[in-house]
Amino acid sequence: MIDLHSHSNISDGLLSPSELVAHAANNGVRVLALTDHDDIDGLVEAQQAAVQHGIKLVNGVEISVTWKKCTLHIVGLNINPDNVALKTGLSAVRTGRLERARQMALSLEKSGISGSFEAASAYAQQSILTRMHFARFLVERGYAKDPKAVFKKYLVKGKPGFVNHEWMNLESALNLIIGSGGVAVLAHPGRYEIKRTNMLLLLEEFRGLGGTAIEVVTGSHTAAQYVEYAKYAQLFGLKASQGSDYHGKGISFMGMGRLPELPGNCIPVWQDWPEVNALIAS
Ligand code: AMP
Ligand code: MN
Ligand code: MN
Ligand code: MN
Repeated sequence: MIDLHSHSNISDGLLSPSELVAHAANNGVRVLALTDHDDIDGLVEAQQAAVQHGIKLVNGVEISVTWKKCTLHIVGLNINPDNVALKTGLSAVRTGRLERARQMALSLEKSGISGSFEAASAYAQQSILTRMHFARFLVERGYAKDPKAVFKKYLVKGKPGFVNHEWMNLESALNLIIGSGGVAVLAHPGRYEIKRTNMLLLLEEFRGLGGTAIEVVTGSHTAAQYVEYAKYAQLFGLKASQGSDYHGKGISFMGMGRLPELPGNCIPVWQDWPEVNALIAS
């Protein structure tokens, strides 16, 4: 019923913002956050569609961050899409992303795979260029059977197409989110290659910078990780979020409308959101 992480074709999802909202509504979702990577251009269309479908749309974004050489994703919820600092900051991240895409294409070229920039751009149309667009091209060319398989052989550290890129720093991302009235959520912590000591450091720093919640139930976590990250949340006094991270048919971690409930020891990130609580109660 509550899904606080999803993508449209403004970033690397397959559905337009209004198609995504319709899909969510049809699958029983009543509160949906659209959280495109480094872009908030889909929110106006998504809001209009949410009104039509009678669901609540939470304005969101998923910002790419570099922390200790590690790429992290920070989700902002209830951000103000008109906030100038947020718009400017995200625009800078997108500029860096485009340059990285060119370098990714050069790296693939060196491995004998040509034309990836043009092909990925064609998939992306007007949207930002992500590794997912390159992955779709590699599937089309027969280098792997699906995007998941691509990310084992390409586009990751040590493999063709990987580019070490410096994203926004953690402090700036949190400042942008919080400064625009939103709350910051550490996305899918179980996906990062971070050992326990560094995870504790990260959560400490995240909370110190004003972070509010971590994703506990996400399409990227196993059931064991729901329990593990619920404990981390409790340990740091952080709230818990949940989201499918839906991208579209065939390229998602999980379908929509099938998230299990948060473990009992979690305080939901929507605890003090009146509109959402009214919806739950109704
Ligand atoms: P980027 O932000 O350009 O590095 O692209 C990252 C995107 O690629 C993620 O948001 C996912 O949509 C996708 N992705 C990364 N790793 C995987 C994976 N192992 N399996 C499926 N999709 C992945
Ligand atoms: Mn993605
Ligand atoms: Mn992510
Ligand atoms: Mn995501």
